[in-house]
Amino acid sequence: MSVRLARPDLLQFVPYSSARKETAAAGVMLNANESPWPPYAGGEGLNRYPQPQPAALTQRLAQIYAVDEDQLLVGRGSDETIDLLVRGFCRAERDAVLISPPTFGMYRVSAQLQGARLIEVPLRSEQDYAVDAAEIISRAQVEPVKLVFVCSPNNPTGQLANRDDVLRIADALRDRALVVVDEAYVEYARSASYSEALDGRDNLLVLRTLSKAFGLAAARIGCLLGERSIIAFLRGLMAPYPLPQPSVGAALQALDPALDAPRAAQIAATIEQRERLRTALQSHPLVQRIWPSDANFLCVRWNDSAAVARDLADRGIIVRDLSRYPGLDNCLRLSIGSRAENQTLLDALAAIASALAAPEAAEYNG
Ligand SMILES: *Cc1c(COP(=O)(O)O)cnc(C)c1O
Repeated sequence: MSVRLARPDLLQFVPYSSARKETAAAGVMLNANESPWPPYAGGEGLNRYPQPQPAALTQRLAQIYAVDEDQLLVGRGSDETIDLLVRGFCRAERDAVLISPPTFGMYRVSAQLQGARLIEVPLRSEQDYAVDAAEIISRAQVEPVKLVFVCSPNNPTGQLANRDDVLRIADALRDRALVVVDEAYVEYARSASYSEALDGRDNLLVLRTLSKAFGLAAARIGCLLGERSIIAFLRGLMAPYPLPQPSVGAALQALDPALDAPRAAQIAATIEQRERLRTALQSHPLVQRIWPSDANFLCVRWNDSAAVARDLADRGIIVRDLSRYPGLDNCLRLSIGSRAENQTLLDALAAIASALAAPEAAEYNG
């Protein structure tokens, strides 16, 4: 039972007992100091506190992610579940979080907020940002690492982690640390989720989100999948009513099985656009390097990323500057937009390149 790895001072933690947890519903509800009247406008039923883990949503998400309902925690985005993990498992100044930069920034932010130590084992940039499994295992065996975050596909570089490596890390650290695979972009990878590998691995956890492929970033719904005692423990640490009812309602509508086929087509279109953009940029005069991607973005190195970002911004196109990440100097992250948006981007890049090639620009460049 990997919940044994939790902060010892929290193992006897008594969760807040909310009115809605104690009694879900009744004909006359006088137990939560709510207004008996819905608001005058803006939302039927919003006068009542929501269920902490709404049954219909939990059921549907468990079905989509192929786990049991008690193996799944629904949070305000996966960001919240990352934070809960760090708070629940890492004692300040003693326990450590291991990350592999360049990677998603929230693991570091949550670790710092909690005062947890941070151990960095960089991705192997010379090998298309592969996870350094041997180094992760050896560092985690000598340091007080409680959580290992693996982002796959990795934000911001775009590659999947090697499956055997990840499972090897999880198995090697079985009694020492939790291995959390963040699959925010896995829908674009057409590769199996690590939820398939949860059976028999009680220190492996998976993060999923509705913010990317499901198009619900503003609803703030994300999930942690894993061993039941860990999920129950973290549910006890959450805020009493974490999920706003309008978000839950929107998610249930968006997750209607009738929409699975159109959504799959949309994801396929994004993948096709990603490859189209990648091919077009490979031979672009301003591009130095472009990495293969399993996500809905591309990581691209330019001759001068700051100039490209500025010229794109002048044309109303914003992209993410990655040059502050170690090892990603002169890199920009380009999210895959609609077909029309991607064409606007390509047209703008062509115009920027030809402006640079024009005589006055050549003179300007010395
Ligand atoms: C976008 C993203 C998330 C999603 O966070 P939410 O809080 O669910 O919106 C999680 N992990 C990574 C790596 C991301 O890029």
